[in-house]
Order: sequence, then structure tokens, then C-alpha cells
Amino acid sequence: MMMEQQLGHQRISRLIAKGYSRLKTWLSNWVARSTETLLPVEMVVKLRTGRDWKHWVNALTLEALEDLTNAPTEIKQQLFKAHVRLVEIETHAKCNRTCSFCPNSIVDRRFNSTLTNSELLHRVFQELGSINYTGQIKIARYSEPLAHVDHLCAQIEIARSLVPYAQIAIVTNTDYLTPTILVRLRQAGLDVVYMSIYLKAGEHWTPEIASDCSEKLAKKLGIQITTCEKTSVSLRCNYEYEGLDLRSACMNFETYGTDRGNSLDQFITQDRVSPCREPFETFVIDYTGAVMPCCNLRSDLPQHQSFPVGDLAIPNSSIFEIYTGHLSAWRRSMVGFDRKPFPCATCNHRQLPKTLEVPVAQQLENRLDQIGYKKPTISSLI
Ligand code: SF4
Ligand code: SF4
Repeated sequence: MMMEQQLGHQRISRLIAKGYSRLKTWLSNWVARSTETLLPVEMVVKLRTGRDWKHWVNALTLEALEDLTNAPTEIKQQLFKAHVRLVEIETHAKCNRTCSFCPNSIVDRRFNSTLTNSELLHRVFQELGSINYTGQIKIARYSEPLAHVDHLCAQIEIARSLVPYAQIAIVTNTDYLTPTILVRLRQAGLDVVYMSIYLKAGEHWTPEIASDCSEKLAKKLGIQITTCEKTSVSLRCNYEYEGLDLRSACMNFETYGTDRGNSLDQFITQDRVSPCREPFETFVIDYTGAVMPCCNLRSDLPQHQSFPVGDLAIPNSSIFEIYTGHLSAWRRSMVGFDRKPFPCATCNHRQLPKTLEVPVAQQLENRLDQIGYKKPTISSLI
């Protein structure tokens, strides 16, 4: 009886602690959002970017930079939980398009009907559930999730039950999206639909065309646009829909894009010097089970075939083992301010803006000193 009472008290304490921490996060997000509504979009993006980099620097630990292959499982789980905010997966291979700004223009996925192994996906969800993962699970990468909607909904239902605190999202090109599919996705337990709006062949992006396309999408789905944010290269809109967060983005891909691990010539820019947060904050799984260091690299692109850091198709393989083992080498290679080698040499993905380079380099140098990790940083900028 005493034992049961003690367990009851522990459970209540955990619930109170969780409630308090959620309230604190909600309050600080609310204050930040309210302040941001008064500022121009470009300034809001700059503020958010600065906050994210500061958070990353402050969260760095020696463990995140070491190979913990021989550490106990609990340590591996804690490290994953502390750093990973996004798990990106493909539930199948197929995408019905071959967009020029996407590596699917090189590796055509239109006729690849492979489904991701269900046992593999469930093992990933179980592992995420075992640490009460609260980050995002995003289904897309180089597939169109709605190309196999039954399989997708079945996987979302399982993810929802095994990882109850995660935010589950899909990214879709909207070709197969209908009001009926929206209802199915909501019933399956999805939280967010990111809708990518692409222009017709030969059309050139303008804010007016982007706005027109967003209105057409709203009409097709029988929903209303609530808010829009416009920049010189994008129009992002939110839509009213009970029980699902619907967001669209219409980008100007003539000027916006990344070279996807040096595979798309039109997006190759200047040398990458700034650190990359991807191998710290994201965990990326291809439809084959190959784990990639970031969203830009893919195991089915010939020039990226040597980059997988793990293979979840191997029975009993674990996301925690891979994150704290082989992926740690990518973290060490991405932590400093120095010229990055292929495939990162000309990558501008989540590149640190020029105006933040010196302050972040200084903060990073201090942080690495503090945790006892030696890596050349600010000196390479001066
Ligand atoms: S729809 Fe998306 S995944 Fe498919 S080819 Fe276009 S950008 Fe790539
Ligand atoms: S620099 Fe680019 S290609 Fe390299 S790991 Fe980061 S996101 Fe990936």
C-alpha cells in the first residue's frame, strides 16, 4: 500500500512538473509571438534565427561531441532527447513530381513504389515513445506522403499512439490533397500539414501570383486563409481548420534554394564556413532505413552513397546507438567556423547570417572552452 501511495505521489509530481514546464514554454512563446506581431517579417526572422543559434550554443555539451558507442543506453537516450528537435522520415519512396530545384530531378522517384518497412518504422516510434519525445516527426523528405495515403494514415495512427507527445507533420505538394483526405489525416492523429505550392512550368514568382495560388488552394480545400507573411522570396499562409494546423509556403525557387549536398548546380554559392546544427538537432531516415547526417543528403543519390551513418533496416538497430555513435563524427566536423569539405562545401542550408557570425563565433568559442572542447573558431574569421 505504501509503495502504491509513493508511486501515486511520484506520478502526480511528474504531471505537475510537466504542466509547469509546458506553461512556462507557452508563456514565453506567447510573449515572443505577441512582440513579433508588431515587427516587420524580415526582422522577426532575424530575431528567431539569433535565438535559435544562441540556444544551440548554450545547449552544447561534451557528450554531444563525443562518440558514446560504449556509454549506457540511458545516457544515449538522454542525449537524443536533449538535442533532437526533428525526426524526418519517409514512409515510402514515391513522389509524383521531378521538380528542377529538387534532387528528384536527378533520381526520378515517380515509378519507385517501395514502402518503408513497417517493423522498422514501429521500432523508431517505439524508441521515440520510450523517451517521451516531444519534438516533431515530419514525414516527407523526397517522397510525396499522400502518394500512398492508406499506408501513410496507418503509420500516423501508430506514431500517434506510440509517441503521444510528439508533433506529427507531413509536407505535401498538395496534388492529392482533398477535403476528404484532410479529414482522414486528422482522424489518424496528424497535427500539421505543410503545403508546398509550386508554380506552373514557365511561370515566374511574384507576390501576386503566390497570393493567387494560395487562394486557389484554399478554394480547392474549402477552407479560409487566416494570416499571411510575405518576404521578397516567399509567401507563407495559415488556414482555418479545426484540429489540424494547415500552413502553405510558395517560394521563389529562382532565387531561393540549397544545393542539396552539391547536387544542384543552380544553388551552389559561396564556401560554407559557419557551423551546421543539422547533425545535432535532426535525425533523418530514408525509406530504405538509411540514416543520413542531414535532410540534404540522400542514400539513393550516387554521390551521397558513402554518407549514411547507420542502417535501421538491420533488425534491432537503434536510433539512439546511431545518434550517439557514427553521427557524432558529423557533429565534430560541423561544430566550428572553418571551410567545410564536400558535400557541405557550398551548402547554405540554415547558414548563419553574416551579421551574426562574429557574435555567435565568440559565444561558441566561450562555450567550447567552458565544456573543455578544443576547436579553432573565431580566429578563422579574422
Ligand atoms: S514535390 Fe517535393 S519531393 Fe517531389 S520532386 Fe518536388 S520538391 Fe521534390
Ligand atoms: S552543411 Fe549542409 S550538407 Fe552539410 S551537414 Fe549541414 S545541412 Fe547537411
